[in-house]
Amino acid sequence: MSADGARGDRLVELLRERELDCLLVTDLVNVRYLTGFTGTNGACVVTSQERLFLTDFRYVEQAAGQVRGFEALPAGRDLAADLAIRLRGRAGFDDANLSVRTHAKLLEKVGAGVELVAAGGLVERLRGVKDRAELAAIAAASQLATAALERVLERGLAGRTERTVALELESEMRLAGAQDPSFPSIVAAGAHGALPHAVPREAEIPRDTLVVIDWGARLGGYCSDCTRTVATGDLSGSALEAYELVRHAQERALEAVRAGAGCRAVDAVARDLIEQAGHGEHFGHGLGHGVGLEVHEEPRLTKQADDGELAAGNVVSVEPGVYLPGELGVRIEDLVAVTTEGADVFTSFPKTLVTVD
Ligand code: ZN
Ligand code: ZN
Repeated sequence: MSADGARGDRLVELLRERELDCLLVTDLVNVRYLTGFTGTNGACVVTSQERLFLTDFRYVEQAAGQVRGFEALPAGRDLAADLAIRLRGRAGFDDANLSVRTHAKLLEKVGAGVELVAAGGLVERLRGVKDRAELAAIAAASQLATAALERVLERGLAGRTERTVALELESEMRLAGAQDPSFPSIVAAGAHGALPHAVPREAEIPRDTLVVIDWGARLGGYCSDCTRTVATGDLSGSALEAYELVRHAQERALEAVRAGAGCRAVDAVARDLIEQAGHGEHFGHGLGHGVGLEVHEEPRLTKQADDGELAAGNVVSVEPGVYLPGELGVRIEDLVAVTTEGADVFTSFPKTLVTVD
């Protein structure tokens, strides 16, 4: 998907707000978002008058085919020196991603009268609001991932290892056209499911337990992210109770999602319900995060979130969980697009408890 001039125009607006004369963009995901370039060495400089893109010899031809709305300039493999001479006035740089070494090099090479100003997060703010093509790409990635899980679950879970199931899931996604999984898949049975970021083991999935499956596909550069917790037979009362609690909290939080809703307030809808059920300490992560070119991006739905509000075009996950150490874990995650009326859900796998033999 190629970037268009509109993204650069929106960025110039933000530069004006911050009284910056130019912005140096070095994070490759941000570079891709603005220019369309997907190589591994590139950077751009945006001012109100100029949009310059620099890459080295290896990527000149690729850039000619991908970069739109930017003047492409050849540079050395070490871009910093070539970039430094392009900066003017109050020059913003990405303090969250630029290395200390590159910053020192820029300081050494910039012309007289150039002031380097920490300005991380500006492109990330733009990326938080998706355009129509981005929403379509995320929807397609989500559909592909759901279909892959359905194919894997047809083969059953009990008696197969977590690692086998995870590898098959990843392979199904690639065979269906995904570039890669958008993050390492999680398949975690029983007590292992109590680790929110469990790594699949060479351990057979037992019968009569819960299995947390968190997976996503990357398609056209855009990520999907979904979690389902499925049963492999009969469950204990406490497992069923935890499942229904998480499902209820997830559905109520989903209903609270709309443009203008506070990020902290949406997190609180699920968190309060889980706390009231006595499991507050068993839900140790945020409710959700933005998803786009990266699987974790702006905005964040957490209790530490600032006073930010959701905006139409945000794509966020809604993923409460309850983790009982040594016993079990439950997480249910949907990916949704925020609209003025509510949320359009991308993920389609059922949320009523599914039992897989
Ligand atoms: Zn996830
Ligand atoms: Zn997630």
